[in-house]
Amino acid sequence: RHRTYVRLREEPAVTKDGARIELHLNAGLLVELTSLPETGAEGIGLFRTEFQFMVSDTLPRLAAQEELYRAVYEAAGPKPVVFRTLDLGGDKITPYTPSTREPNPALGWRALRMGLDRPGLTRYQLRALIRASAGRDLRVLFPMVADVSELAAARTMLEQELEHALKHGHPPPASVQAGLMLETPAVAFAPDACLELADFVAVGANDLMQYFFAADRQNPKVAERYDVLAPAPLSLLKSVRDACDRHGKPVSVCGEIAGRPLEACVLAALGYRRLSMTAAAVGPVKRALRQLDCGRLGTWLAREMAETNGSSGPGLRMRLLEAGEKAGLP
Ligand code: PEP
Ligand code: MG
Repeated sequence: RHRTYVRLREEPAVTKDGARIELHLNAGLLVELTSLPETGAEGIGLFRTEFQFMVSDTLPRLAAQEELYRAVYEAAGPKPVVFRTLDLGGDKITPYTPSTREPNPALGWRALRMGLDRPGLTRYQLRALIRASAGRDLRVLFPMVADVSELAAARTMLEQELEHALKHGHPPPASVQAGLMLETPAVAFAPDACLELADFVAVGANDLMQYFFAADRQNPKVAERYDVLAPAPLSLLKSVRDACDRHGKPVSVCGEIAGRPLEACVLAALGYRRLSMTAAAVGPVKRALRQLDCGRLGTWLAREMAETNGSSGPGLRMRLLEAGEKAGLP
């Protein structure tokens, strides 16, 4: 198996019927970037900047943040990198970032919510990102947006920091894009306002599904209880994809499901063309996608979803596996 994946490294993820799917990496530590050449992934689809904070005893200073981001660019070479701003708070507590114990951390004061209430934290991070991306394409992703006003405020901060950098003579990034992390049902069900403001979109399927099913992703008693291969979550993911298309915004899926071969095939069949995953998932996902008939699976899914929405009987996953090649699967 491993040999097969090595052989596939230089091959693109193209389905049997010609759909080209980009595979990117999720990472949070510098050491993980060695996987970029090893896997042949096309870029860093999600760099989780909070890792640096979580492994540090003191608040990483501007210079330390800038240094890490520079090193990430260096390791990525010409490949694109998406930096997500801090996703701290909730249960990701550090000794030095503001926090209070909360009864429902996943629903609490986390990520961009904290980032907007403590603008100093965000402004410094954006400053470090802008300085590190001199001459490079800067792609910043804002996590846990639940209302368009939050994305608007985050964008304003980014613009302020770009002005600040210019005024102080720092060489600017070659280009700047602000991304929406789509991971709350509020935005998934009414995405238009946010999509107008965003340059690109990353679907945070871990959180989106946690909130969709009201099932704590950290609680083993419920985390595996609900299947994303079911009509309701799939129609949500499909409508998100269609909305991004309507707005002409590039969209990726990060989160565990993008790294599972069967789920990745289904995402491709729903129209997703960019997936971001852990390094170990790239080979198996690419292998599956290259044997997929994407159009056929899309047709099969559309029919099944229309016929079975809300009905009982064997789950969609089961019927999908039973249908196998008839549904276009490898
Ligand atoms: C997600 O929510 O799907 C995601 C990719 O981000 P994280 O797992 O860091 O919350
Ligand atoms: Mg998330």
